Amino acid sequence: MKLKNSNLLKNQSYINGEWVNAHSGDTFDVSNPFDNSLLASVSDCGQQETREAIEAAGKAFKVWKNYSANQRSKLLRKWYDLQLENIDDLATILTYEQGKPFEEAKGEIVYGASFVEWFSEEARRIYGDVIPGHESDKRIIILKQPIGVVAAITPWNFPNSMITRKVAPALAVGCTVVLKPAKLTPLSANALVVLAEEAGIPKGVINVIHGKKASVIGKELTENPIVKKLSFTGSTAVGKLLMAQCADTVKKLSLELGGNAPFIVFNDADIDKAVQGAIASKFRNAGQTCVCSNRLFVQSEIYDEFNEKLREELAKLKLGNGMESGVSIGPLIDENAVEFVEGLVEEAVDNGAKVVCGGKRLEGNSGIYYPTILSDVNIDMRVFNEEIFGPIAPVFKFETEEEVIEKANDTPFGLASYFYGNNNSQIWRVAEALEYGIVGINTGMISTTVAPFGGIKESGFGREGSKYGVDDYVEIKYLCMEV
Ligand code: NAP
Repeated sequence: MKLKNSNLLKNQSYINGEWVNAHSGDTFDVSNPFDNSLLASVSDCGQQETREAIEAAGKAFKVWKNYSANQRSKLLRKWYDLQLENIDDLATILTYEQGKPFEEAKGEIVYGASFVEWFSEEARRIYGDVIPGHESDKRIIILKQPIGVVAAITPWNFPNSMITRKVAPALAVGCTVVLKPAKLTPLSANALVVLAEEAGIPKGVINVIHGKKASVIGKELTENPIVKKLSFTGSTAVGKLLMAQCADTVKKLSLELGGNAPFIVFNDADIDKAVQGAIASKFRNAGQTCVCSNRLFVQSEIYDEFNEKLREELAKLKLGNGMESGVSIGPLIDENAVEFVEGLVEEAVDNGAKVVCGGKRLEGNSGIYYPTILSDVNIDMRVFNEEIFGPIAPVFKFETEEEVIEKANDTPFGLASYFYGNNNSQIWRVAEALEYGIVGINTGMISTTVAPFGGIKESGFGREGSKYGVDDYVEIKYLCMEV
């Protein structure tokens, strides 16, 4: 991997401003999902190092919370500037360890940095309130104070932006952080921390623990009483486990979990626009996003036309190494992911689904799976009920609005949803009826710093980004004063 700034490549954990090895000296390997080549051997830390990181964050909190809002804002702004100055290197690291195409990786760096910019501005606006007292001699004042040490656990599918989305608001309000990135993508996290250090963010304010035993690190992060809040992005199964582990110390929680997004196309929709939206929402990151369309529902009059147009557009996509120009579909994250997707397709086909296109691995690279359309699918199939996390689009046929709303909501998940149509009344009805935290209407691209990203039901709770993004990191205290 060639970088302009090779200092961004670090393979250790980061505790109290120092790059450190695991006490045991153990490491784990990180490889490129495109060709399985070795990228780095990273410190394999465990409980003891996690505890040290938490203690460092606890000490740093006492200092950081007393920085003025203006000081914190300026440091975050500097961190943001450095991320954009190093965008090519950050994107290169991301593509090498995660596989997504370089241009898409650059998009993630811009998106990730935008949270740091946004919360550098919000840092100055953690306003309280004054409430008219309940008695004539009482004054009531509301303060918002940083909650304390935050544990942040992040996934591999967005190795940069899932980190900044948590760390930036935490730091903005005066919290300190212990971060545990996914073991498949530790290098993007480290590069961000190198830049945080360069920006002047004091030691102990951000700490990063890498290790291949997530449950050991996670246990310490959830049970240690110094940690006051856990912010987790990942699967619903792990989120439930962490929620239970946090119960004993009653930690505040934000959970950004899995999704099962419906993508609905009504008869009167602009079909070409809907096809482009389906490609953007389904095939970005080779289908490995939590807001990916999981189930496409197309109304019967336009079902065949939609499938044919989608097939034509998918045939134009170039598959391959994310570092190669023009590639828009890279490898899935690992062999397990490919096998999982194969299993879903096999089960659907065994039960009557038809493969309109794709349905197999790319010749010559077994980590890449063709963008696939499945028609003649039904609600008993796994592709209806499970998060696919791969480039498979099952297209369900529906007749009525009522029927499709019922099917769209027939899942324990409630993160993103999408629909295309042109009837104003229907747009309002459907938008209000969908049981999801996010509804994309005539668009497949819904993620932005300025909106409150998050789910309902078993997709979790808490919101990231926007003016609401700081709420999860502050405590509300009121002063009741007799005058
Ligand atoms: P995952 O297996 O749940 O892992 C997520 C993170 O949790 C990783 O850092 C992982 O560490 C860690 N982890 C796993 N088991 C743990 C344990 N017992 N204790 C503490 N930490 C533990 O999920 P993933 O496969 O990486 O990511 C895909 C999932 O994330 C999908 O379900 C996707 O929908 C969801 N996601 C949600 C959002 C959202 O905003 N709602 C955004 C992106 C992704 P290791 O990597 O070391 O195992």
